[in-house]
Amino acid sequence: MTTQMDRRVAELLHHRRAGLAKGDPVTLPLTPSTTFHLPDVQGAPYIYGRNGTPTWSAVEAQLALLEDAEVVSFPSGMGAISAALMATLRAGDKVVLPSDGYYVTRVFARDFLAGLGVQVTEIATRAYAQADFTGCAVVYLETPSNPGLDLIDIADVVARARSVGAKVIVDNTTMTPLLQRPLDLGADLVVAADTKAPGGHSDALFGHVAGRDAALMARVRDWRRLSGAVPGAMEAWLVHRGLETLDVRLSRMCASAEVIAARLAQHEAVQAIRYPGLATDPAHDLAKRQMTGFGFLIGITLKDATVAEGFLERCAFMTRATSFGSTHSSGERRARWGDAVPEGFLRLSIGVEPVEALWSEIAAALG
Ligand SMILES: *Cc1c(COP(=O)(O)O)cnc(C)c1O
Repeated sequence: MTTQMDRRVAELLHHRRAGLAKGDPVTLPLTPSTTFHLPDVQGAPYIYGRNGTPTWSAVEAQLALLEDAEVVSFPSGMGAISAALMATLRAGDKVVLPSDGYYVTRVFARDFLAGLGVQVTEIATRAYAQADFTGCAVVYLETPSNPGLDLIDIADVVARARSVGAKVIVDNTTMTPLLQRPLDLGADLVVAADTKAPGGHSDALFGHVAGRDAALMARVRDWRRLSGAVPGAMEAWLVHRGLETLDVRLSRMCASAEVIAARLAQHEAVQAIRYPGLATDPAHDLAKRQMTGFGFLIGITLKDATVAEGFLERCAFMTRATSFGSTHSSGERRARWGDAVPEGFLRLSIGVEPVEALWSEIAAALG
């Protein structure tokens, strides 16, 4: 049976077809032009590179198919996140952010939004389940949270936020629209770092905002044009290429992560593990309801910082780098950045290596 998502993935691969004339290149031309032929000012599809370019339009068309929504692209995940917050908040408004989510979002809110008169409140992802959102203009959440991999029920938060007139913004970076669909669950805006799995090769910073409210999306688009935080042509082109294989890469990455998480959970060196696909994970039931895959991120806690760093050093198929979602597996001890996690906590991002080759290295490195 073809699912709606299968259909969207196939359409993504053929999205340029309807616009092709005889002899046109089949693959997307990279268009670095900042300026466009403009004999008069009426009705031109492109005017000037800060307003829009054919390369952005192509990647936005792909993302719009996946999100089933309007999409505005940005030069990074943070470009998208700051745009969504600037488009929805004014002086005197209150915003709730996850205290255990992506830390740069919190720093942006504290250092810039607070200074403009926005009241910023941070609560733990799991506390969203009981939080009272009265008086909030925006409820911002991230599930599974990065790096702790805690989950929160998006539909439940949306219902309670809506009842008090708040908008909901969801950072969907860890899942992508293929694995989790916050807009279908009622969220007003999705923000994401396409730097991660969608680009997928650790060679382009990129991000997007998606939404189904035309007025809100027009404000997001205005923010991009007026702030000047615009994507580069090369990055848009690379993400366009990356998105063509997102579905196959995610299938391999998620399947491997399930195998590896189950084995890590049994390993005596692993003191604690978070992976929403494990039946023993506290969020497993919610993950089954809310996500169409369990993702490729695994959180493990080893004895201490030395043991955790030693494991990464010995494991030949685990790149020691920050970020995640690339073709290669990578791992990082998050406490080195000051995240509120144990000293021996590692965030592992499972790549597309054949799973048994990867596991044999992980097992050997764990000792
Ligand atoms: C990486 C990341 C971001 C920021 O993306 P950049 O492209 O680095 O700006 C935002 N949210 C989450 C959850 C991320 O993992």
